[in-house]
Amino acid sequence: MSLIDSKPKVGIFNLSSCEGCIVQILNLGDKLLRLFELIEIVDSRVLGIKKDYDYLDLAIIEGCVMSEEEKEKLVEIRNRSKVLIALGDCAVSANKNFMKDIVNSPVEAKSLRQIVKVDYEIPGCPINSDEFYDKVIEIVMGKKVIDRSITVCSECILFENDCLLDKGLTCLGPITRGGCNALCPSNGRPCFGCRGLSDDANIDALIKAFEERGIPVPLYLSALNLIKSLKDNERRMRNE
Ligand code: SF4
Ligand code: SF4
Ligand code: SF4
Repeated sequence: MSLIDSKPKVGIFNLSSCEGCIVQILNLGDKLLRLFELIEIVDSRVLGIKKDYDYLDLAIIEGCVMSEEEKEKLVEIRNRSKVLIALGDCAVSANKNFMKDIVNSPVEAKSLRQIVKVDYEIPGCPINSDEFYDKVIEIVMGKKVIDRSITVCSECILFENDCLLDKGLTCLGPITRGGCNALCPSNGRPCFGCRGLSDDANIDALIKAFEERGIPVPLYLSALNLIKSLKDNERRMRNE
């Protein structure tokens, strides 16, 4: 997709979600107005827009799939869309990126990728508005979208925050995908992993760091190695 062709037609949709990620889009303020100069929103319940269209250049979908009706809606949107973005952790992972919930989640929910092809993912609960803006601009301009593989820790260190591990707190920043500007540790709260595992997450090293500091090791951490190898396999298959 490129602006050279025409103003791209974009739809913004919700499945099962709290709409917190869409709110983050609305929070873009002036940037949202700039975005609207580059794209044409043709379908968005939240924005109150419903135009006639046959196809979409870009579908942005928040939420996970929790019913047959939502599954059919998702497949229909996919069939009409050139590019599809999964917006936020409900869409990316059926919100099982909350690491503490991964192992025992009772929720019968499916991520978008479990049902249709997803072209891009924007993680976070909620998403980071600026990351959304940058990614959509890159996609609309036809640029190569590069996922940053930094951890929350890398961003936290740049802000020169005092490390919460040294205060005996269970911070998952070392194994969590960055991009939120270390939001929680910058405000004195441990990262609980809402953006999911980073590509190079070293879970054993984090367990060791907890042990060295006398921090109780959460039971779910050892199970994350299995989750990580599944994700590594999935990523390998996607890139083949
Ligand atoms: S990812 Fe979080 S903020 Fe976004 S829709 Fe789901 S629950 Fe709400
Ligand atoms: S507070 Fe958390 S995110 Fe920040 S450096 Fe320490 S472990 Fe990493
Ligand atoms: S610091 Fe961790 S829990 Fe907080 S927003 Fe970032 S990834 Fe999510």
